[in-house]
Amino acid sequence: MSRPPLPRRPIVWRNALFLTVFPAVAVAATIAYGLTVGIGWAEVIAAIVLWWLTGLGITAGYHRLFSHCGYRAPAPLRFVYAALGAAACQNSAIAWSSDHRYHHSETDTDGDPYDATRGFWYSHMGWIFREGPQGNDYTNVPDLRRDPILVWQHEHYLAVAVVTNLVLGGLAALIGGHLLGMLIVAVLLRIVVVQHLTFLINSAAHVWGTQPWSKGTTSRDNWFLSLFTLGEGYHNYHHSFQADYRNGPRWYNCDPTKWLIWCLSKVGLASDLRRAPVDVVLSTRFEESCRSLAARLEGWGAHTAEEWSTLLEQKREELRCRRDQFLEGLREGKTAMRDQLLAAQAKAELRLAELKALRAAHRDGQRRAADAKTTELRRAIERELTHLRRAIRQAQRSASATLRGWERLARDYSAGVLPAGSPA
Ligand SMILES: [Zn+2]
Ligand SMILES: [Zn+2]
Repeated sequence: MSRPPLPRRPIVWRNALFLTVFPAVAVAATIAYGLTVGIGWAEVIAAIVLWWLTGLGITAGYHRLFSHCGYRAPAPLRFVYAALGAAACQNSAIAWSSDHRYHHSETDTDGDPYDATRGFWYSHMGWIFREGPQGNDYTNVPDLRRDPILVWQHEHYLAVAVVTNLVLGGLAALIGGHLLGMLIVAVLLRIVVVQHLTFLINSAAHVWGTQPWSKGTTSRDNWFLSLFTLGEGYHNYHHSFQADYRNGPRWYNCDPTKWLIWCLSKVGLASDLRRAPVDVVLSTRFEESCRSLAARLEGWGAHTAEEWSTLLEQKREELRCRRDQFLEGLREGKTAMRDQLLAAQAKAELRLAELKALRAAHRDGQRRAADAKTTELRRAIERELTHLRRAIRQAQRSASATLRGWERLARDYSAGVLPAGSPA
């Protein structure tokens, strides 16, 4: 179905030149440097490391944190993301996230800044040449406009981008290699490569791949793309569950960004990791399987319609049974988990009561020591107090470990995470 052409919005010359002249300069400089001085392993390794660092600034920072609030991060980490994201030269976090939120809310329509139904080239980079459908309307990112780090980065975007790239390139040269070679290969060429890898998610991940979660948009799951895009290739899942901090939900899905966020949460640098509840994920998949089966059968000849409809009903029944079994397992898992949670709560209360009793005994001992009539008696009470202090320290450690376990269970229980051994 043909669509009316887009209104001709003004060309943004700064973007147009940056997307054409800059790559030409980067490639020409790399070839010239390679032919005259020679590119060594140091430059190649530095380019890969900076690709990962600035790429994660985009995927873990701009995308999953700023655009989708898939988790929470403290100010120092948000600052690092702002600096690394700027070094990827893909606009400020506020502008990038605003476009991206419009992409999710208006997918495949004229309001989608990188509408994939306008063709591969348009969604890849053509859209950047002209002003977007919403212009510079950032009203869809009020939360980001309240973050002083992101406001600062937005206002000084160019300076942050240049300084971070110079610092990264300079550090790479200090560790090993010529400064010029590092600036050409690990900075200029790497910027172009990382840009196009990000662009591929807007273009290729809306054209090639599977749609196991929803056919409601053109988004696709493409594991191959994930190998080069730090896990962003599972784009059909992402469009279906955009607030999930994971793009590849299964443990074996190659999603380095998800692994990074998980590791950060283990050292206290990320919290409130959001996951789509497992029963919602399963129901979505079930509905989509039913829809695609029905669509496939519809096109297979009218004369066998009755046979096909019986088969369809059988298949639906099979799927329904599997879903019910799963949900039953889930309910049992949830009940088991609630029991675990209650037991952990009782244990925590017991530990705290023990701690309280020990502290009371310690206070009592201190009083008795103060009132002791003889030195001998005071010494005996002080020995008792030393034992009590050791017991209090042990009880404190044990109570905080029990509380941590209880907190973890409570978090998993409310997030709908299945206990180990449940069907998945
Ligand atoms: Zn998309
Ligand atoms: Zn997204």
